[in-house]
Amino acid sequence: MKYIADASLFIIRKRLEGDIVTVPSVVEELREEAARTMMELMNVRVEPPLKSFKEEVRSKAGITRDSEELSGTDIDILAKALEYSVREETILVTDDFAIQNTAIQLGIRVMPAGQRKIKDILLWEKQCTGCKRRFPEGDICPVCGSPLKKVRKKKIRTG
Ligand SMILES: [Zn+2]
Repeated sequence: MKYIADASLFIIRKRLEGDIVTVPSVVEELREEAARTMMELMNVRVEPPLKSFKEEVRSKAGITRDSEELSGTDIDILAKALEYSVREETILVTDDFAIQNTAIQLGIRVMPAGQRKIKDILLWEKQCTGCKRRFPEGDICPVCGSPLKKVRKKKIRTG
């Protein structure tokens, strides 16, 4: 069993037994000394993601509409999880809903680092960049005429 972990695991400082792999961009995001120490204690291996898998993640994330929500680091960790999942049993450990959603679309098993449920579904709505009102859809605010931006709505629990 291989665990691919994003920053969540090290930030909440949960001890996980087993083979843990992460990517350099995750390590760069860990500013707390305690989180870095946790990484060392768990003998986490740091491997850069492969370009071909990053491209695969990007193209598939586009289909699930999560791509606007995924950072470069998110793509890196998904690419690493995808790479391992094609050759051995792999679990991606993350508390990030956009990463979880995309991972499921890619056929990668996911596990939350904390207590959050992984069966939650992300819902989207549009928010005005001017008056901040929220709307179910559209590109231009009907109230003030400013462009609307896609934002995450509350999650719906399914399980
Ligand atoms: Zn507006």
